Amino acid sequence: MNKVVWSHSALKDYESCARKYEKVRVLKLHKFEETEATRYGTQLHLAAEEYIRDDKPLPEQFSFIQTTLDALNKRSGRKLCEHQMALTIDLQPCAWVGPDVWVRGIADLLIVDDDILTAWVVDYKTGNNKYPDLEQLRLMALMVFAHFPHIRKVNAALLFVVKNDMVKFQMAREDADKAWWNYRERIARIEQAHDTGVWNPKPSPLCPWCPVHSCEHHPKH
Ligand code: SF4
Repeated sequence: MNKVVWSHSALKDYESCARKYEKVRVLKLHKFEETEATRYGTQLHLAAEEYIRDDKPLPEQFSFIQTTLDALNKRSGRKLCEHQMALTIDLQPCAWVGPDVWVRGIADLLIVDDDILTAWVVDYKTGNNKYPDLEQLRLMALMVFAHFPHIRKVNAALLFVVKNDMVKFQMAREDADKAWWNYRERIARIEQAHDTGVWNPKPSPLCPWCPVHSCEHHPKH
């Protein structure tokens, strides 16, 4: 079993504050609390998934994304919705749950065009487009290369559905090795924290929203 099983959001959490990561993700002291915004995001993802996969009409509240989804649906290639991809530490595809899993990622929409050896990865975002996080797309592209060995190029996009904006990212298979090394180095830091038991706090303007009220940097401490 790998010491660290990670995802884009887990790595982001660790790098934003190791102490919070330990309390929330390692010790599991704080449950995920659903908010109005997260509930809306979950509902939209489900509506988009069912629209593309099952041809199920969009609920009225999400009809504003129909034109965008229709444009994606028109692309040639296999459409895979909410597609789960997991890899071993040797970058071999593996089961989503199991002793060998090292990294996991879910593509909201993956379109695999076997004819032109190209894939499209789309991630729906219901939040603000002010600070687009392209790293999520980088990891998705890497996962696609590992799961679909014939694919040479991945075009990816964050689709800010409410803001009607799209932020694009592209990766060629030749760039994958270097990108994986970057991740290996960063995951090694999480492994080191497990080994040493040192989980340093990283105070930020986000502390008031952190569930770790016991931390001296939390305003409710
Ligand atoms: S309050 Fe701030 S510093 Fe403390 S654990 Fe939470 S995010 Fe980290």
